Amino acid sequence: MRIKSIKSAGLVGETPKGGWSEELRPDDSVHTLIAVHTDDGVSGYGSVFTSHKLVTAALDVLEPLYRNEQALEPERVSEKLFQNTFWMGMGGTLTHTISGIDIALWDILGKATGQSAGRLLGGRYRERVRPYCSLLMDEPEAMRAEIARFRSDGFSAYKIGWGPFGRRNDPGLDEAIVAAARDAAGPDAALMVDAGGSDAYWPNGLKWAVNTAEMLARHNVHWFEEALNQEAIEDFVLLRRESPVDIATGETLTRRQSFRAWFVQGALDIVQPDVTKVGGISEQRRIAWMANEFGIRYIGHGWNTALGLAADLQLSTAFPTCDFVEYIGGSAYVDGITVAPFTVDDEGYLAIPDRPGLGVDLDPDKVARLAPGGRDLFEP
Ligand SMILES: [Mg+2]
Repeated sequence: MRIKSIKSAGLVGETPKGGWSEELRPDDSVHTLIAVHTDDGVSGYGSVFTSHKLVTAALDVLEPLYRNEQALEPERVSEKLFQNTFWMGMGGTLTHTISGIDIALWDILGKATGQSAGRLLGGRYRERVRPYCSLLMDEPEAMRAEIARFRSDGFSAYKIGWGPFGRRNDPGLDEAIVAAARDAAGPDAALMVDAGGSDAYWPNGLKWAVNTAEMLARHNVHWFEEALNQEAIEDFVLLRRESPVDIATGETLTRRQSFRAWFVQGALDIVQPDVTKVGGISEQRRIAWMANEFGIRYIGHGWNTALGLAADLQLSTAFPTCDFVEYIGGSAYVDGITVAPFTVDDEGYLAIPDRPGLGVDLDPDKVARLAPGGRDLFEP
């Protein structure tokens, strides 16, 4: 089975806010769907966290390397694409685009063999996993209402992040937001906090992060994410030692090689690679297992699409200690592009599909609504 063509479609029109200081608008293109079509009629689908314009250019550059390649060998083909293009931008657009191709190739391997990707990745450690509902921070009363809304949908875990937190030089406001969220989520819910230290011109340093971690511990926060500037590895090492709350980061790192220094130096408790950026399922699996050797938990970053979530679900079942997946609250790109929507069960868990490949089906009509020219994605 050979790769015949690779198509892409950029999702626009309902791009969720990211909480960034230069805020995303609905028509900004930051998530792109990928289809890999084979000469055998089997097609696989993936997702890339970057603009459709960049993905289009990357596919053009990669085409001579993937054309007629084996469609049933995701890890080897993805590695071939990395090894032969690093000099054009190691870890950037090309790596993001390879991520989507790799996810699609795992989908194809599953469909061709009749097995779920999770089983092909080593086996199913669990049949369901807890999604945490990922929400932007807001003023305390708005935060309370937002969590209440998703609690009524069945979620039992939440992450709140970005927005005003840490950006107003007002520790009282920061604590009021977290207290309102805890109150709305209930004492038994898992609550995580994401400062968003990878935002442009993040203003806070180590002392702020240490003091804030102590505040978060008072509200039984499960982890503290992106508490520092994304490059400040030395301060992350110190923060991890001081913080009573687990320290999580890694969403902006790509390629397994970038994670090694963070693990060796002990800069984090929980590593959060994004499967739609880091290099795909093949790369994410290696990062998760490498983290495990250092006693670091793996929980993927999933601020992307239904296909990114589907890949995260398959990775979560194939990994013995992955007990959460990220689920963006209220995103059309997660809830509005597949034939069957994801549903949270009575105990706040998502079933992990055991159908061939990723185990989810894109709905061409729904994709066409959110992606100009989206029907072309499905044409080999
Ligand atoms: Mg984050």
